[in-house]
Amino acid sequence: MRTDKLPLGVWHEPKDYLGIDWKTYNKMPEPYREIDYEEFLKILVCSGWGVVATNFKQLQLPEETGGAASVNFFLLPYNCVAVADIYEYTWSKSKRDQGLKIDSHGKAYHCLRFFKVGCDHKFREMSVKETVERGGIHDGAFCHAYICDKCGTKQTVDSSG
Ligand SMILES: [Zn+2]
Repeated sequence: MRTDKLPLGVWHEPKDYLGIDWKTYNKMPEPYREIDYEEFLKILVCSGWGVVATNFKQLQLPEETGGAASVNFFLLPYNCVAVADIYEYTWSKSKRDQGLKIDSHGKAYHCLRFFKVGCDHKFREMSVKETVERGGIHDGAFCHAYICDKCGTKQTVDSSG
């Protein structure tokens, strides 16, 4: 895979990556959608790709009325996922039915909420001609080049086994 477009590194807000607008300091980047922890782990651990960069933000989730959430972003070649940690005391009056709760000394808990950030890709296979015209490399019959027309992300797969 070509790595020249990958946002390698840490604490990174790459431009031109998955159509993500990183917004200002304390806002959730867009687009995003909440996912459950199984989908989060499926993308993060089971997608076949590793994390190439991370980012961290303290921000206010639009639907949260409490304090800021600490959000860790994990950037993979074709996806970005995030987990928000909202720390809350057990005596808080807020009623939470979403998120994964992790006890913190019996008096508080971490409420973890999971997100997929960036484009929900819709890949289509490109012809050899289109692949080359778009600056890609098409190196034979076992090369399959795909593009997401929504965000421009390209993916090349070698099917030779
Ligand atoms: Zn896309």
